Amino acid sequence: MNNYEPVIGLEVHVELNTKSKMFCRCSADYFGKEPNTHTCPICLGLPGSLPYINKQAIEDCIKIGSALNCEVPEQSLFERKNYFYPDLPKGYQISQYRWPLAINGWIEVENDEGKTSKIRINRAHQEEDTGKLSHLGGVTNIDFNRSGVPLVEIVTEPDFTDSSQIRDYAKKLQLIFRYLGVSNADMEKGDMRLEANISVKRKGEKGLPPYRVELKNINSFRFMVAAVEYEIKRQIESLEKGERLIQETRGWDEDKKATYTQRVKEEANDYRYFPDPDLPKLAINKKDVERIRNSMPELPQEKIKRWVKNLNIKESDTSLLIESKQMADFFEKAIEYAKKHQISPQELANYIVNRKIDLIDTSIQQIVDDLVAKKSGVVDDQATLEEMVKEVIKENTDLVEKYKNGKVTVIQALIGKVMGKSKGKANAAKVKQILQNLLK
Ligand code: ADP
Ligand code: MG
Ligand code: ZN
Repeated sequence: MNNYEPVIGLEVHVELNTKSKMFCRCSADYFGKEPNTHTCPICLGLPGSLPYINKQAIEDCIKIGSALNCEVPEQSLFERKNYFYPDLPKGYQISQYRWPLAINGWIEVENDEGKTSKIRINRAHQEEDTGKLSHLGGVTNIDFNRSGVPLVEIVTEPDFTDSSQIRDYAKKLQLIFRYLGVSNADMEKGDMRLEANISVKRKGEKGLPPYRVELKNINSFRFMVAAVEYEIKRQIESLEKGERLIQETRGWDEDKKATYTQRVKEEANDYRYFPDPDLPKLAINKKDVERIRNSMPELPQEKIKRWVKNLNIKESDTSLLIESKQMADFFEKAIEYAKKHQISPQELANYIVNRKIDLIDTSIQQIVDDLVAKKSGVVDDQATLEEMVKEVIKENTDLVEKYKNGKVTVIQALIGKVMGKSKGKANAAKVKQILQNLLK
């Protein structure tokens, strides 16, 4: 196992939550709607219809690219990706190939052991979704409500080496989409879809392996991680037996906890990409890119860095607090309010994280008031103090022994322990009394 090194690249599709579709004015809000009610000649691919470009989608794609540290070239172009499939009424998908909206980015990911690495982003390009097929009792139904909904595809270089990095990457992307407000990025609803390309090579071997296995249609982070781990193991075992691995697409069987062959493609697909003659070249003005970037909110990773640096919050306490933009915004308001009550950001973070308080459902004032009450309330309460003293007695049998043998000055050490437990908030005089009583 240790002689091999996984080589993994990820493709993520994210459906944008724009009002209208990518190339027509049909509503893009199709989830749960009556089939084929959000359609028009353009998204049905009828002859003679002409597409036009959704500006909001382009801006969203530029935001996503910018969040991933990409460059936005001054020219961009839509091309036709030709293939035949019943969910694709035009016989081609409008996508981008040679001139994507965003290129050459990067993102930092963390593995299970906390080690960070840079993953290069090859591109973030704009395209459209297909219709949806459902197979029921020998009949296939097609719903074109999804046809033409804006999609952004983000492609990484093959820089991942294990499944924990993939989980971190997918979670980070999901948070970015949500902070930017460009998608709900709900995996179960298919707003966000992951595909992993996996191969393995001998450690130290130069270049990419001559094959890759594509894992497709996996709709949860957990299944993706399981599938990647399975696949790495399967491929290494295969190579160990001297077998040759082939280029193929595999799916995940959750019951068998195994991947299985879906489609074998020995040669690369030939989509015959060519510029869409119905759509103009996009000239992307630097000033527009600047304006779009300036309209972006602070992103989760930047927030964490700022909180840690300026507010002295422990990084390990931030994950719950940045889980949604709403939560983070509430927390920042709470910090301001807490300051007025001499409560530090870290104290507030502790309080919220330990109790898993959902800031969105609770009023900020209530939380801080509770915290203030707790902070000053502990001091005198007899039962609470007694409980702490009893714990300290149990935990420090050696000191107690000395005390009972006549070394009464040891009581100061015991009081110190109780003070530590109460974070300095216990009434020291009362603690002394209780100790003396209990150790009689
Ligand atoms: P295509 O155009 O056929 O989708 P790409 O070259 O764009 O192919 O690659 C798609 C994904 O596969 C990218 O994320 C890339 O990093 C990854 N990839 C390419 N070669 C390999 C390989 N040998 N092993 C693992 N991943 C690979
Ligand atoms: Mg691809
Ligand atoms: Zn339409």
